[in-house]
Amino acid sequence: MVTRPPREDAPQDSPRVSAPSSSAAGNPAVGSIVREVVGKLGVTRSLTLLHANQKDGFDCPGCAWPEGEHRHTLEFCENGVKAIAEEATPRRVDRAFFATHSVAELGERSDHWLGQQGRLTEPMLLREGAAHYEPVGWDEAYDVLADELRAMGSPDEAVFYTSGRTSNEAAFLYQLLARLLGTNNLPDCSNMCHESSGTALGQTIGIGKGTVSLEDVHTADLIVVCGQNPGTNHPRMLTALEKAKRAGARIIAVNPLPEAGLLGFANPQRPGSYVGRSTPIADRFLQIRLGGDQALFAAAGRLLLEAEDAQPGTVLDHDFVSGLTEGFWEYAAHVRGIDPAEVERATGLSWTEIEVFAEEVRTAGSVIVCWAMGITQHRDAVATIREFVNLLLLQGNIGRRGAGLCPVRGHSNVQGDRTMGISERMPDGWLDGLGAEFGFDPPRAHGYDTVEAIRAMRDGRVRVFMGMGGNFVRATPDSDVTEAALRRTALTVQVSTKLNRSHTVTGRRALILPALGRTERDRTGGREQVVSVEDSMSAVHASRGRRRPASEHLRSEVDIVAGLGERLGLGAVDWAAMRSDYARIRTSIERVVPGFDDYERRLAAPGGFVLPNGPRDTRRFDTASGKAHFSVNPVRVLEVPAGRLLLQTVRSHDQFNTTVYGLDDRSRGIMGGRRVVFVNPDDLSDLGIADGDYVDLVSEWSDGERRAPHFRVVAYPTARGCAAAYFPETNVLVPLDSVAEESNTPTSKAVVVRLEPEHAGT
Ligand code: SF4
Repeated sequence: MVTRPPREDAPQDSPRVSAPSSSAAGNPAVGSIVREVVGKLGVTRSLTLLHANQKDGFDCPGCAWPEGEHRHTLEFCENGVKAIAEEATPRRVDRAFFATHSVAELGERSDHWLGQQGRLTEPMLLREGAAHYEPVGWDEAYDVLADELRAMGSPDEAVFYTSGRTSNEAAFLYQLLARLLGTNNLPDCSNMCHESSGTALGQTIGIGKGTVSLEDVHTADLIVVCGQNPGTNHPRMLTALEKAKRAGARIIAVNPLPEAGLLGFANPQRPGSYVGRSTPIADRFLQIRLGGDQALFAAAGRLLLEAEDAQPGTVLDHDFVSGLTEGFWEYAAHVRGIDPAEVERATGLSWTEIEVFAEEVRTAGSVIVCWAMGITQHRDAVATIREFVNLLLLQGNIGRRGAGLCPVRGHSNVQGDRTMGISERMPDGWLDGLGAEFGFDPPRAHGYDTVEAIRAMRDGRVRVFMGMGGNFVRATPDSDVTEAALRRTALTVQVSTKLNRSHTVTGRRALILPALGRTERDRTGGREQVVSVEDSMSAVHASRGRRRPASEHLRSEVDIVAGLGERLGLGAVDWAAMRSDYARIRTSIERVVPGFDDYERRLAAPGGFVLPNGPRDTRRFDTASGKAHFSVNPVRVLEVPAGRLLLQTVRSHDQFNTTVYGLDDRSRGIMGGRRVVFVNPDDLSDLGIADGDYVDLVSEWSDGERRAPHFRVVAYPTARGCAAAYFPETNVLVPLDSVAEESNTPTSKAVVVRLEPEHAGT
């Protein structure tokens, strides 16, 4: 029986704690899927799942893990089902809902409660000084937005934010609109996730993307998984790791947390999993200290050089290094000089563990390094990823079978959006192409990324904030600062499918523009429209919604952007034609974006096509020198004052980015609550705090303290000195100015905190 949305919020966050899981998926995952199907979808709606990730179906709106050539009948994971159930839910947030609930009251509700209310059904406007949103027609909505944009003194008073769910076609039109307006203020969720990867890879190998295919993962000798929790965040990656293991691969997990999906995988597609059989995943688990990965890889580089010294010609790929790279000697001189004691302090690992790791790398015929936010959200994230590149270059582990770099993207089309020009700093060549296609000179001054956009709003320099999907206020750091910044704008506009907190933190006026979901049929312009997305491995494929839209008032993201472009009368662009036939948008993409030749025909092919990738395809490196770059990255220990811990913000298992599907995190043994902090038992005894105590988390930064109250302490086998707690609840602790060097990504994986027992000092 499909349940109604929760009326009341859970009274008090009161988590129940048990032992963490030692493997991912299995019967618990199947049980969770059944609950989603029965509890949220019902039988008929759950048939939607049969189209998920199928070649003629829709792309799962969850993560960006690729599909293989062969598709199972049930080609989705537990978290994919949750993401789809959120879109296909029969629950509705309509004008009656907004008449009942004021913005202020909604602002007091939990993220989970807001997300469980259902699908938005029509455009809503919050007038200046009003307490409730009220329904408006699309025309009035466009007028409000267009008038506010026209009232700007400069195009840079507008910010156009993009979440990673936006399709290629909508993203391309969105960036075109912003640039025709005259601004490059195009922050996106990539700023908070793989910006550090794009920066480091662009510098060293000439492309800001990974260099492996799914086939490479299946055939690698050694896969090193760093700072990633695939069991929750990219669940079908476990299928690929299992396949690799069955083909003889070894897997090393490098993580402060012994995540269930790194230890074992009970694949529901295998009958054995129903009797509790699971495949061990990691052959080695290196419980590294937060921020220690760079030192680990630098040390491994040193050890490989020493092994080469001992047996010349047996370790390094000399032809590759001398023919296709530069900077080797500077790098070699640097890593030969690093101090093992400092490496041990930085990593929390013993030199012996590091020697064993290096030996695994030395003896593997092909090596892949995978990573996610546990790497990218650190001060030295860019240097760390450059160190990954260094280690792989030594043995030519790029551009050959079973080897390469694999940043695993968290949102279904976050890579595609960047490819479509969603960035505050696109290269001049790319902008030249855009200008030639549409007959204008795009702005060249770099715009705001996410952190800069928040600063600009905080300082009153932004009049209009527009969010294409996502939940900006919950995805960003320094929540109190970000909320106050958004409230300084004249107008906030959220293009959304469901209710979330960003609808409760508004400018003087606010608009909600309800969009079609990925699962829904798009008949914009009176024809069946297809959109396209790009996964983590640069494969572009079509996505066709199959469900009847949740409301007749919904519009596609393409339609919304084209409608605004038309209303503003922007440029020599035939917005109506673009809207009525998305193939027209793709024709322009083909002429502007490299690699999209013959776009329409290749997109129509089952499974789509793979974009060119110089390092992967031909070992071509589009750097200034045409070679891959070794780099010198000083090892730096993340210093933590006595009595403090390094906190990382993480997702629970019942969560996708800022969307909270439920209050459980069974993989870590947490049920019915989210305000928990995981701390090593030895750290607890040093701090004189006990499992089950309640504390406030207080972060300390040069501009003062930030507090997140009332967290239940959970004694947990995390690395010494390293704690973990869920975001978005702990984003308030991450200072806006605490960012990764070069990429400006918030350092959400390394926040210095103290645990203040509740009632301390009362
Ligand atoms: S692995 Fe990611 S893309 Fe695939 S079904 Fe699961 S959530 Fe969706």
